[in-house]
Amino acid sequence: LSDRLGGVFDRLTKQGALSEDDVRTALREVRVALLEADVSLPVARNFIKSVEKKATGAAVTKSVTPGQQVVKIVHDELIGVLTGDGDPGTLRIDQAPAPILMVGLQGSGKTTTTAKLAKRLTERDKKRVLMASLDVNRPAAMEQLEILGKQIGVDTLPIVKGEDPVTIAKRAKTQAAFGGYDVYMLDTAGRLHIDQELIAQAAAVRDVVTPRETLLVVDGLTGQDAVNVATEFDDKIGVSGVVLTRMDGDGRGGAALSMREVTGKPIRFVGLGEKMDALETFEPERVAGRILGMGDIVALVEKAQATLEAEQAERMMKRFQKGQFNMNDLKMQLEQMQKMGGMEGMMSMMPGMGKMAKQMEGAGIDDTMVRRQIALINSMTKKERANPQLLQASRKKRIAKGSGLEVSELNKLLKMQRQMGDMMKKMGKMGKGGMLKQAMS
Ligand code: GDP
Ligand code: MG
Repeated sequence: LSDRLGGVFDRLTKQGALSEDDVRTALREVRVALLEADVSLPVARNFIKSVEKKATGAAVTKSVTPGQQVVKIVHDELIGVLTGDGDPGTLRIDQAPAPILMVGLQGSGKTTTTAKLAKRLTERDKKRVLMASLDVNRPAAMEQLEILGKQIGVDTLPIVKGEDPVTIAKRAKTQAAFGGYDVYMLDTAGRLHIDQELIAQAAAVRDVVTPRETLLVVDGLTGQDAVNVATEFDDKIGVSGVVLTRMDGDGRGGAALSMREVTGKPIRFVGLGEKMDALETFEPERVAGRILGMGDIVALVEKAQATLEAEQAERMMKRFQKGQFNMNDLKMQLEQMQKMGGMEGMMSMMPGMGKMAKQMEGAGIDDTMVRRQIALINSMTKKERANPQLLQASRKKRIAKGSGLEVSELNKLLKMQRQMGDMMKKMGKMGKGGMLKQAMS
């Protein structure tokens, strides 16, 4: 009972929790910001809904307003959605010659991006690249790529008038193999609108070369449209990644969010101008800031959170020096450990902890164990966590049962808490907290 009451008081003292009203009011503005950034309507709606659920009840950091806190939550969520798997700037082009197929609507920036990417692969990744234009529709399209090739010093497949795209693709494949190229890039034709002939052509080329990467080039200034295009290309041809062009323009790049939400494909690069080196690896943080357009607020909240964390760390250190190290502290350490990539990751960061790491290893402590330990702590009452010495046989039994584990495991956990407490105390005295501070920051 006392625990349940404790919970109520906890809620009362935490005036800083976001109410449904706080969240809804702030999200109204966020919604406007998203739409102004050209995020497509259904995507914006969905996104807001998911944030609404997450934000309600979340704690508000001291010295910021609920609205500001919501913006920060939105910002973090945006980054989450924008971030795809793996490293955006790394393409799967290890087996030479690796074909890269470039697809997209006419005018989206395919030819320009093909050349930019070829330059990047040549200069940064030291790859030998061959480019070929399959654009037989537009007059001078093939010459355009040839000129760019000369400009950046990348080879292009010699132009043979009258060939169809599939024939050119075959020739590029052969040339790439015999010429010892690491990569060959196929710049396809586009249309103003997606049509079946265009898709069929791209699919035929795909079947001839089996691309390692099929990059969809999308104009970052187009909103709703971009999503339909992406879905269609992905369904019919299969896309491995997206390049957003014209991100140097006035637009706020909402297409990035739409693209991620709808296709789930990773955004690899962004085009930032007409020049050949205006291509950068996609950075979710940067684009999130731009879409939301509330960078000042985000910075403010981050600063407030950092200050608060520093204060908490300070307070914790003082307690450790006095030999107070309870289950809440241990839980925090364990969670920190999980975040930092397990025991080894954490210990390697703490000076003087090498020996301890070995001891723990010897005791068979690994990530599964950490998870079980946290489960044990979660089964304790608030009072027990603060005062682990309260744990006598009956309480131990209850806790073990609650977490589905053995009392012997709980005993090990208690031993660990005592040992770590002792050690923290010693370390605190040794370096007047300096060492510990370093370890925790
Ligand atoms: P394609 O029809 O898809 O091959 O498109 P192009 O590569 O020919 O590009 C069409 C126009 O867009 C050209 O004038 C390019 O210089 C321009 N362009 C391409 N990428 C970018 C970019 O990232 N930023 C800006 N500002 N212009 C770009
Ligand atoms: Mg072109």
